[in-house]
Amino acid sequence: MSYRLQIGLLFAFPVLLLGALYVLGASIPVPVLGREYVVRIALSDGSATIGLPEVLGPSDPSRPLVVIDAGHGGPDPGTVSETHREKAIVLGLARALRDKLLEDGSVRVAMTRDDDSFIVLEERAEIARALGADLFLSIHADSAGDREGVTGASIYTLSETASSEAAARYAEKENSADVINGVDLSAQDESVNAILVELSQRRTSEESAEFASLIEREGQGELVFHPQARRSAALAVLRAPDVPAVLFESGFVTNPEEAERLASVEGRERFAEVLARAIRIYFARQSAET
Ligand SMILES: [Zn+2]
Repeated sequence: MSYRLQIGLLFAFPVLLLGALYVLGASIPVPVLGREYVVRIALSDGSATIGLPEVLGPSDPSRPLVVIDAGHGGPDPGTVSETHREKAIVLGLARALRDKLLEDGSVRVAMTRDDDSFIVLEERAEIARALGADLFLSIHADSAGDREGVTGASIYTLSETASSEAAARYAEKENSADVINGVDLSAQDESVNAILVELSQRRTSEESAEFASLIEREGQGELVFHPQARRSAALAVLRAPDVPAVLFESGFVTNPEEAERLASVEGRERFAEVLARAIRIYFARQSAET
């Protein structure tokens, strides 16, 4: 055997060995070769429905639809104090608001979660889009860290920079079978898409801001607001380009009195009354405009 051939074989051997292992891997149980990890996940028995949440309230699809999003859930508790967990407080608030809205039957309601389940952040806004929601409200409760005596609710809308970033992303999405505000993006060229999405996002931002103002107005004297109650931030959950969205930080879990109030029946009721009023006024204005 020539020296060259020997060297050649020496280099070829590991490649051949890997190739052989790969071929064998198809027939030999994977753990034997350790080719990859096998992760087993216990699936539900199939009785749980996967997909979009139920739309509650009037069956008339022309009625406005609000999607209520209780933050966190499942393995993600949100802010935790000695006595309270954000995920439980916000679910209580979300349920109270749902019940309040369903009382008079003028508004349709869906909840991103109505139990202790975990939903990925981006999915929450996508649920609202997929249902064709007219309004999205995400409910959270804050942490003040070590600062004592911090109280009050804040109302967040998507910041302007985050808003145009999100618009750009939607516009260049490769999967442009996307329909935004009734405009089919697959039928447009990219620069037109960018303008359409930008316009849609701008209008959505204005409507979000209007809803935020209504919450602040209707909550005066009823809810405790943080001194700087209106805020904007780059929040993933608010990024849908065509569903007006607000994130309501209902108060501070880390403030024992406030947490107690938010978790109480009266606290929930007060929250639900204010938010339901703001939502109804918002929809009444929208329908007056069109
Ligand atoms: Zn939160």
